[in-house]
Amino acid sequence: MRIGVLTSGGDAPGMNAAIRAIVRYGLARGADMLGITRGFAGLTEGGGAIHRIRWDDVAHIASEGGTVLGTARCPAFLTGDGRREAVFNLVNAGIDHLIVIGGDGSLTGAELLAQEWPRHLADLIDHGRIDEERARAHPKLHLVALPGSIDNDLWGTDCTIGYDTALHRIVDAVDALASTARSHRRAFVVEVMGRRSGALALAAAVCTGADVVFLPEDPPEDWRTTLTHRLHPGMREAIVLVAEGARDRSGEPIRTEAIRDMLEQTLSIEARTTVLGHIQRGGPPSACDRLMPVTLGIHAVRLLLDGLESPTMLGMAGPAVRATPLDEALRKTRTVHATVEDGRYQAAINARGDFFLELIHARGMVRTSLSATAARTIALAHVGAPAPGMNAAIATFVDAVRAAGHEPLLIRDGLRGVLEGRFERPDALDGLLARGATVLGTDRWRPHTAGELSSLRKAIAQHGIEGLVLVGGFGALEAASGMRIPCAVVPATISNNVPGTEISVGADTALNAICEAIDRLKLSALGSRNRVFFVEVMGRRCGYLARAAGLATGAEFIYTDEDPPTLARIYEDAIRLNAAMDEGRTVAIVLVADGVRAPFRAERLAELFAEASEGRYDTRVCVLGHLQQGGRPSPADRLLAVRLTRRAVAEVLGGCGRRVVGLAHGRVQVERVVEALEASDREARRPGFQHHLPRLRALKPRKKKRKTKKSDRDVR
Ligand code: ADP
Repeated sequence: MRIGVLTSGGDAPGMNAAIRAIVRYGLARGADMLGITRGFAGLTEGGGAIHRIRWDDVAHIASEGGTVLGTARCPAFLTGDGRREAVFNLVNAGIDHLIVIGGDGSLTGAELLAQEWPRHLADLIDHGRIDEERARAHPKLHLVALPGSIDNDLWGTDCTIGYDTALHRIVDAVDALASTARSHRRAFVVEVMGRRSGALALAAAVCTGADVVFLPEDPPEDWRTTLTHRLHPGMREAIVLVAEGARDRSGEPIRTEAIRDMLEQTLSIEARTTVLGHIQRGGPPSACDRLMPVTLGIHAVRLLLDGLESPTMLGMAGPAVRATPLDEALRKTRTVHATVEDGRYQAAINARGDFFLELIHARGMVRTSLSATAARTIALAHVGAPAPGMNAAIATFVDAVRAAGHEPLLIRDGLRGVLEGRFERPDALDGLLARGATVLGTDRWRPHTAGELSSLRKAIAQHGIEGLVLVGGFGALEAASGMRIPCAVVPATISNNVPGTEISVGADTALNAICEAIDRLKLSALGSRNRVFFVEVMGRRCGYLARAAGLATGAEFIYTDEDPPTLARIYEDAIRLNAAMDEGRTVAIVLVADGVRAPFRAERLAELFAEASEGRYDTRVCVLGHLQQGGRPSPADRLLAVRLTRRAVAEVLGGCGRRVVGLAHGRVQVERVVEALEASDREARRPGFQHHLPRLRALKPRKKKRKTKKSDRDVR
């Protein structure tokens, strides 16, 4: 089978990771892989634009932004004549299986191409440009579409390739602006991308605690009035985010300069404007934008090899791949756009889905002041190790409890703090969302004996605590199971080993830290002798971080407690690595979870591999340790903390029993703590069912190297 792949429309970080996965998985499964340069432009031009891609052509590209295939806008493809040329070039190259990565424009074009394929074939025969036999060999186009766009405006996926990275760029920029804004008592008005979609602006506003955000989907009656309601003279700092396409209800575009002038003249707030522009599109992809494209890319090739009939778009629903007929995905995407254009804003917000709606409710928080008549006292404590995003949970907790008219109480240093009466009244929450670890301190302690449990319950009652939110790891669940008051757990640990959720707060930041570290390791090996790095990552007996990082960075082998090393496996892997080195590999990464059995820890593995290498390469061990735990929270971790904590507070205020609030298929779900614990592996401290990632091994087998003939490079 010959499979073509192209990227089209606006480039998006993560496209390269998809290309790499598609090409390598396709080659490993015996397909011929062909790349088409500059999207539909290459398709309509043909010639050298359609070329064979080999294994090594996609080495080291996953950590690069943009797309190695290039991308373009192609006006010719908007016409039937242009698309007929594309059919001609594809058929001549023997391609009738195609993977298109792009935004809604590109996917619309690709869908038309598949629809019109038979008609164009008939035309080409009529005009004597192709013979009937060739046409019969390619009667239809088998098409898989992958959503690639920083805007996250496609229906049928939680997020598009490139969105998470763009969000990283925006959040980094706004965090930086917020610190200077605070020092100068200034306001910053920041324009972010999104002509038709406020997805980036809205998520960035929630991640940074922006005071005001203007979105195309939710226009204000009059933006000046919104600003006067939300901001006041003498504010310590203010951040206003504006999506490119934001307008007010009269249709007047909301411009950053106009906001600045209004803030200075009417509210006497010194203001500056910043347009983030193409910075949002560029740079290395985030961990999510490496992991997700790999998953989608592998599934795309699988679908084609399995004989896919009708054009299909693949997207994500949590960690799972979701397939939607391409025409349905495009129709629903267009409906959302049309509802915005027609001014049916509430319908547009609803149509964007639960995630968007949750963020609409969460924006503008961290500003609610204490109600004079606080009814109940609801407390928050951490249990376990610190995790990035815990501060976002604290800020959200305080806001949500106050907004409901109750009093938030923060417990210092975990549950031990209740026994010792260490509490904090939440005051300054400014800047909290952006801070790593937790300002509250945390502790692993939880009651183990009946006596300890009874003391804890007594202390809780003494302090008038009527509901409890526990933010932490596996131990938080165990602690929650002994509570007598409403208690909800927000899973927060980089290990992602908490039952009741597919992902926990902190894991994404850790994954980003690992990816960045591995990029550096790979670069450090450039120009040196062949080198293999054995990288030990956290997670204990839950291999999530090792497996996800391995997939995101293209590791050679991954050893975890769930998929443990044995002497036989190590020997087999070492021989394969020797073969790869003999064929020209210079650097390789082996990921090892810190919970593998002692004889197979990273250092021992390095020794065993070195022994088997017979001098082919050097080995280096790198234990990433606590740098995985300490980072500033990534946008995904902040958003997760906000979503889960808001729901946890609602559960506690609603008088729940003991609950864990997590994600299932990307949606917030609530589960009873006892059931979550029963379904877990208590001894290994991990969920009984783990959301399996596709096995990396499929990307690894290398075919025997053969000399490349010139005819191989150009298939025409
Ligand atoms: P994106 O894919 O990022 O949304 P564009 O909307 O610019 O970017 O589309 C990229 C390319 O896809 C266009 O230059 C054009 O070649 C093709 N395309 C877009 N819309 C259509 C359409 N309605 N019909 C056919 N081709 C289209």
